[in-house]
Amino acid sequence: LGCILASCLRVCYSDSDSRRSPISPGDRKYLESLSLQGKLTFENTTASAKDWGQLRRVTAPAVVLHPTSVDDIATVVRSVARLESELTVAARGLGSSTGSQSQARNRIVVEMTSLNGIMVAPSGDSASNGVPFVEAMGGALWVDVLKASLEHRLAPRSWTDYLYLTVGGTLSNAGVSGQTFRHGPEVSNVLQLEVVTGKGEVVQCTPTENSELFFTVLGGLGQFGIITKARILLEKAPQRVRWMRALYTDFATFKRDQELLIGSAVTKSFDYVEGFVVVNNENVINGWGSVPFVRSEVSEAMIPSSAGPIMYCLEVTKAYSTADLQKLDDVVESMLAPLSFHRELLFKTDTTYFKFLDRVHELETQLRSRGLWEIPHPWLNIFVPASAIDRFDMLVFKRLVTHEFNGPILVYPVNKSQWDKRLSVAIPESPEEIFYIVAFLRNKLPDAHGGPSLSSMLEDNEKILRICEPLQCKQYLPHYQDRSRWKRHFGIKWETFVQNKQAFDPNVILSSSQNIFSRRR
Ligand code: FAD
Repeated sequence: LGCILASCLRVCYSDSDSRRSPISPGDRKYLESLSLQGKLTFENTTASAKDWGQLRRVTAPAVVLHPTSVDDIATVVRSVARLESELTVAARGLGSSTGSQSQARNRIVVEMTSLNGIMVAPSGDSASNGVPFVEAMGGALWVDVLKASLEHRLAPRSWTDYLYLTVGGTLSNAGVSGQTFRHGPEVSNVLQLEVVTGKGEVVQCTPTENSELFFTVLGGLGQFGIITKARILLEKAPQRVRWMRALYTDFATFKRDQELLIGSAVTKSFDYVEGFVVVNNENVINGWGSVPFVRSEVSEAMIPSSAGPIMYCLEVTKAYSTADLQKLDDVVESMLAPLSFHRELLFKTDTTYFKFLDRVHELETQLRSRGLWEIPHPWLNIFVPASAIDRFDMLVFKRLVTHEFNGPILVYPVNKSQWDKRLSVAIPESPEEIFYIVAFLRNKLPDAHGGPSLSSMLEDNEKILRICEPLQCKQYLPHYQDRSRWKRHFGIKWETFVQNKQAFDPNVILSSSQNIFSRRR
């Protein structure tokens, strides 16, 4: 059944792509007649079809726009909106999605990385009441936003675990990491946006001016407009961080401590709180071998005999400046004191703030050199209500996670009050304040490395999603094939989502490969 299900998934994807028709000579002539500063490419467009997931066979886009100005994007969008045609437009960041979300059937792909300027305002302006901000173009990478901000000893407050992602791409989703519990996701840290709507209008929006567009675009999966510029709040940047990992053998204790850390004493707590599931073996991807910063710091003899097949690791950081160094040990010790991890299984390292935030890039360099970066990634991200996390642990972590999981499984709680209700992002609708971010970040290694097949990983994802259904979870970075599943996904936000689509992209030309709406002729 697994193979049938998985192969069906792949066939379905291919079928939907084969419905795509090439650009008509008339549409091509019309597009070629547009006056643009950047350029439109009609041949050799395969690179723009690539995505991180590598799970679907995608045909190259008919046309690629390399914009050099916001006007280029507005001109193309406006022109396509007017055409009696099936053409659609999708912005593409770096294609870091796993379900070809930055593609568009009958499509023009806009390569946003062509538009990548960054400007830091260290003293803010009158609109920000002197609060510092950085203004980044939609195609700028977060790593460059960080570098530019650090030149002024400033930094954004909220991050993703990996920084080689575009500002517009992550703001179209949410942008979550270990700072989310305190500052909300990246979308909660935006002061202003410049957006090209589906009508081709260039609109400035803030939480108070054109606020419907502002909130609907954030987490809006590219449905309402293309983010061409974002103003992001900055704070004083820490110089260094103490980075710690602590092992637990029991889920209830791990959960209690994580929730304690993101709870009411937030200001006294750590700056970053995440965690991950650890398989009880020495494996360096999922086992206790992956926990310490220096592999030799852990051995089988150190693992408590009471440990079951699955353990849990808390990951936290405390920022400090060199002037704080003398007091740091005492401060951290007092912060760790209320926690109940296995004391002999605490691992620490000190690093710069930049290196900590850029940690996944170091791994990327290693994996690239071994040909293990550009491989299929059947990732699955889920938001689980706190009231369902024990059941999730029982039914998913304890039953489905085996020693051959081939990728990290993150699990950490965040506070719902940091997510404005008007944002498009779908989060659990149950009334409780906390929900968990659970990320199954599995990699399909080349066959020579062994490990589970891609189809069995996709089948596991389907099993997990079936378990999630009665638990009122929401998928993060989802990709559904039909509208009814999207309707269920957005839940109480669906009506507003549809109304905003009508208001800002009435011809339904944006991000069509999300399969939420399709273009009328
Ligand atoms: P793309 O994948 O190219 O685009 C994503 C969607 O946004 C598409 O629908 C596209 O049409 C739309 N889009 C792109 N640019 C714009 C724009 N300017 N305006 C409007 N719509 C646009 N996410 C997290 O939240 N937390 C993490 O810790 C995290 N870690 C990751 C680690 C790795 C190694 C990778 C590959 C991804 C990670 N992600 C994480 C996921 C990432 O946030 C998403 O993949 C996101 O899509 C950003 O990628 P991108 O900039 O390449 O955009």
